[in-house]
Amino acid sequence: MPRPLTALIPRLREICGDDGVITDPHRRRTYESDGLTYHANTPGVVVLPTSTEQVAAVVRLCAEAGVPFVPRGAGTGLSAGALPDSDGVLVVTSRMRRIVEIDPADERAVVQPGVANLEVTRAAAPHGYYYAPDPSSQQVCSVGGNIAENSGGAHCLKYGFTVNHVLGLEVVTPQGEVVRIGGKAADAPGYDLLGAFVGSEGTLGIATEITVRLLRAPQKVRTLLAAFETMDAGGSAVSSIISAGVLPAAVEMMDALSIEAAEAAVACGYPPGAGAVLIVELDGPAADVDAQFEHATRLCREAGAFEVRTADEPAERARIWKGRKSAFAAVGRISPAYIVQDGVVPRTALPEVLGRIAELSADSGIRVANVFHAGDGNLHPLVLFDDAEPGASERAAEVSGKILDLCIEHGGSITGEHGVGVDKACQMPEMFSPADLETMDLFRSAFDPAGLANPDKLLPTPRLCGERPGIRKGVHPLVAEGAAEQF
Ligand SMILES: Cc1cc2nc3c(=O)[nH]c(=O)nc-3n(C[C@H](O)[C@H](O)[C@H](O)COP(=O)(O)OP(=O)(O)OC[C@H]3O[C@@H](n4cnc5c(N)ncnc54)[C@H](O)[C@@H]3O)c2cc1C
Repeated sequence: MPRPLTALIPRLREICGDDGVITDPHRRRTYESDGLTYHANTPGVVVLPTSTEQVAAVVRLCAEAGVPFVPRGAGTGLSAGALPDSDGVLVVTSRMRRIVEIDPADERAVVQPGVANLEVTRAAAPHGYYYAPDPSSQQVCSVGGNIAENSGGAHCLKYGFTVNHVLGLEVVTPQGEVVRIGGKAADAPGYDLLGAFVGSEGTLGIATEITVRLLRAPQKVRTLLAAFETMDAGGSAVSSIISAGVLPAAVEMMDALSIEAAEAAVACGYPPGAGAVLIVELDGPAADVDAQFEHATRLCREAGAFEVRTADEPAERARIWKGRKSAFAAVGRISPAYIVQDGVVPRTALPEVLGRIAELSADSGIRVANVFHAGDGNLHPLVLFDDAEPGASERAAEVSGKILDLCIEHGGSITGEHGVGVDKACQMPEMFSPADLETMDLFRSAFDPAGLANPDKLLPTPRLCGERPGIRKGVHPLVAEGAAEQF
């Protein structure tokens, strides 16, 4: 253990208690990566604070000693944002899991950062409310992690990302001060520091208390599955639905390869011969949902759907979602290894980008399965390859990188919802000019002049460039445990 860290240990024990400080090398290794296990680093020391005061005292100590710190929630991130620093302190929020307040009258909840996303909805449900952002890792991922990544989910088309649901934060700054940004009221004057903190990936400090908006649980939810011969026909159904003013809660699409994988894994029974399936979910007041549902069904048929299935009851709806929700894990059935890419393009660019991905796949001989949030253009291409075949993983990594180039070329971004972290930091210059990046660095330095908060994340450093994206073999461990879905 580096000397500055060794000197900190007794003080960290005074702050967090003996059982709140992990120095044993085997136990520290438990925290060596987040959900993107390709990047791993044993943390110098791990602390498990239980209160804002403890977090602030730990961070103050780091600031005084010039030691870096990395915040970590549940460690489900997919961009190595919580990758530890071997010379630093990993601050894990898993013991800060208190729901401070559910306030149905003001439609707000106040929670500690380690609370799992789904717990907010569980606590609000008896009052007829829920918390809208729904990453598929929601059973385990923390609200603090969601804030840092500005996480989304299948229903973000209608309800927006985390940033649209956070109203107030208590933050421990990189100097160890406790500050409040925003609160229960809807809008605060001055610069939008709340918006800046959401999505900052742990580089501006540690969120220690979070105030979120609660929404009334919808009166009715209906889901339809439409099968098309081609992706183009499915894509044109999406365009007609959105341009007709129908606002679904979710619009998801799968291509033939991902349907094949889902069929092999969970026998989802999607219509045979489909080149694309579209899942459309509507929610809201019953009368509106019924009217819009009929409209969306008609538009799917007009776009060429050869079969449309509809579901109203939770069990029927779950049957429709089954294939879509299993798609990521399912590709393990049809490919020994794969890369899950995450990029986003304006929705109207989807047909062109999907066509170019098909060309990239044909030219390289690397298969790409497309599963995506069609309503908001968030692509999750699954780049399939056999890692036993010489050169295949390099070709797959190249295809995966070129897909992100396509996203940028079409006015999109290198990440739709999984963040930059370490994994995509070296792709930031492809999207931003040196002046842009310098400005971002200045902004970051205004909060953290010493550069101790989650160093080497989000902004590129020469050391990081050239590393390969995360390659996966088989199902993600959280999905295998049944603790998370990935879709
Ligand atoms: C199976 C699976 C499915 C997924 N599905 C989705 C999905 O549908 N949509 C989606 O958007 N993402 C998804 N993800 C990615 C991941 O779950 C999200 O990014 C999530 O928000 C991370 O939360 P976490 O608590 O695990 O954060 P961690 O992985 O622990 O940390 C993520 C980042 O947040 C920072 N951080 C953590 N806590 C704090 C805090 N209190 N204050 C400041 N910074 C902090 C860390 O430093 C790091 O940069 C999925 C991941 C898996 C494994």
